[in-house]
Amino acid sequence: MAKFVPARGLEEALAQMVAPAVHRIARQVEIEAKRLAPPVKRWVTVGDDQVRPTHVSAQGQAVPGNLRFAINSMDWDRRHRGVGEKTYMRAPKDQSSRAIANIRNCRCTTHSDPDGIAKNINTGPPVVAGKKVTVTVSARGHLVVEAEVGTVYPGNLVADGAHFMSRSAAIVAARR
Ligand SMILES: [Zn+2]
Repeated sequence: MAKFVPARGLEEALAQMVAPAVHRIARQVEIEAKRLAPPVKRWVTVGDDQVRPTHVSAQGQAVPGNLRFAINSMDWDRRHRGVGEKTYMRAPKDQSSRAIANIRNCRCTTHSDPDGIAKNINTGPPVVAGKKVTVTVSARGHLVVEAEVGTVYPGNLVADGAHFMSRSAAIVAARR
């Protein structure tokens, strides 16, 4: 049986040659991830003197769209509704948070930034080490890991992961 033995340095040279192709594949993953990434939602109060203190504190809080805001609880809800120090709401007036006092007559809204996560997804340069080519596509930002894989809040409130990074890799892999 003949056995192919690459010439010294050939595999390294090959790695250099395929590096741009690996980089192009990674860029496709980046593009898909940006398309699939959830928006970032921000809590917005009406800003007058009637806004309850727990929502004044929440003004400007920004979280990935599939997650929950962490709002300071109101004493009545803590005593009667079994919420802890924080009340976890998907949006203002979210009854699934189990709050009553903290959602009654709330006039808050949210602002959604579709590029909030996408703008921080990047592809690094190809790194050739010996016969190995590595390109990293990364997402950075507040709560991006939880946005990707999901999380569970106190009270067993489940936020499903958006899986935008793993799905984008699977989509690009399926093209090949
Ligand atoms: Zn409010």
